[in-house]
Amino acid sequence: MKIAIVGAGMAGIGTLRYYIDHINIDDMEIYIFDDRNSAGIGYPFGPDDDALLLNQRLKKMTLEPWDDKKEYVKYLKETEPELLNHEFITRPEFGKYSKDVFLEYIKDERVKFVPSIVNDIDVKKDKYVIKTDNDYEVDVVHLCIGQLPQTDIYNLKDIKKYIATPFPIEDHSELLLNSKSVGIIGTNLTSLDIIMYLYKHNYKNDIIVTSRSGTVPFIRGNEAEVSIDVNALKNKKDITIHDIVEIFKEETKRQGIDFKFIKKLNEMPVLETLKYQLNHLDTLGVLEETAEELSEVLREVWNDLSLEDKKYYMKHIKGVHGQLTGPFPKMTAEKIVELIEAGQLTYVSGVEDICYNDEFVIHSEDGDYSAYVMVSAVGPNLSGKNLADENNASPLVKTLLEKGVLEVDELGGIKITYPEFSVISEAGVLERMKLYGNLVSTTHINNSGVNLILKKIPQSIEEIFHGDDGEEGTLS
Ligand SMILES: Cc1cc2nc3c(=O)[nH]c(=O)nc-3n(C[C@H](O)[C@H](O)[C@H](O)COP(=O)(O)OP(=O)(O)OC[C@H]3O[C@@H](n4cnc5c(N)ncnc54)[C@H](O)[C@@H]3O)c2cc1C
Repeated sequence: MKIAIVGAGMAGIGTLRYYIDHINIDDMEIYIFDDRNSAGIGYPFGPDDDALLLNQRLKKMTLEPWDDKKEYVKYLKETEPELLNHEFITRPEFGKYSKDVFLEYIKDERVKFVPSIVNDIDVKKDKYVIKTDNDYEVDVVHLCIGQLPQTDIYNLKDIKKYIATPFPIEDHSELLLNSKSVGIIGTNLTSLDIIMYLYKHNYKNDIIVTSRSGTVPFIRGNEAEVSIDVNALKNKKDITIHDIVEIFKEETKRQGIDFKFIKKLNEMPVLETLKYQLNHLDTLGVLEETAEELSEVLREVWNDLSLEDKKYYMKHIKGVHGQLTGPFPKMTAEKIVELIEAGQLTYVSGVEDICYNDEFVIHSEDGDYSAYVMVSAVGPNLSGKNLADENNASPLVKTLLEKGVLEVDELGGIKITYPEFSVISEAGVLERMKLYGNLVSTTHINNSGVNLILKKIPQSIEEIFHGDDGEEGTLS
């Protein structure tokens, strides 16, 4: 029985260790593919500047959410106990742990690490052929290939002073730190990382953060207790998106918070909202914890919602839900406030276009701005027509879409079954080809977090061997 794991980032490591620790079959051979530099760390957690912080409290981070949620804390106790005094630590620190886990598991004699990027996969009747420099014929494939490259909204990729992929940020230090001004496209967490990097390195010139909407993520509030019966709600298969919003409103009202608080935060200019949030961390904590609990409900009921409900969520709620469930540390907010007050950092919203003419020119509703270097901090574009176009190219995904092995989901991203995570190809469901991570985030909704992605992997693997009915599957 041959198993291929394509990608050795977080999902790949999780898949590998679940097979090794839990799947007991004879003659199992596992091939895990990735390039040597990324294997064991994936995109966000590689060696880099220590201005880049985890966006989760360290005690919530784990590479083993099914057996030992405290594994990372235990690892730190043994290796770097002083880090346990920090609430948030750096992403490269987490990468050291993931790399150690990876190196440990590939020692197993059933595992072969192939240090190559996969270019193509052929689907045969009962087999898959993984194509790198050599061909590998296998029975099962787990695609753990992370996210597509960041989208190039303004088609700037050919300009030398445009940074399309910001990490590792150390690779761009000279360009960034010597620039007369730095522009950033997007206001999300990646944009905060870039600002924090500039701050840490004492960058003194102008920073211009551009976006269409003008909203910024929220600050992580204080830890809070909320009382939502997640398990009962998860089983309410007829629940609607409007019911979930009502539950959110009821819970926050019970805790003395007016739902309009959120709208108010988003209507304020960036400086004002950040200062206001810093003074209301208890309120934010309750809202964020409530949104987090309801996220868990949403992930379970999502695929039973009507298409209309899903589209409503995508259009009207996803943005603010993301602000509440992907907040950033308070100490980052304090530095952003400092930079805005010093007149060094400007947020420009209502951006209509960015072009290049010796320098980058940002056209916005409020007038034009310029920057010498421009960094992209927007995520990948998962929508159908952009998913594999030249500005979002990921060669393997593009090839598999062209061959009909992968298909674009109506809501964006790639079509899979849930909770099996089997790829739905043009020819039907491929029960032994699984796909996890950002590319399936329209089905495994709001899955941006290591433990969220990993939590679902055991069920998807077990289903290969035992099927839904508990009977052994075709492979054993
Ligand atoms: C900037 C940033 C910061 C983040 N911070 C956090 C955080 O603090 N906490 C958190 O929980 N989550 C965080 N996330 C979310 C995070 O990306 C995921 O939780 C996690 O890394 C996703 O795991 P993955 O395995 O899907 O992707 P990755 O960990 O990125 O792994 C994908 C791997 O697949 C490999 N690959 C791709 N294509 C091929 C191919 N064709 N052949 C072989 N290998 C291939 C890549 O080289 C890569 O190593 C962050 C995300 C980003 C972008």
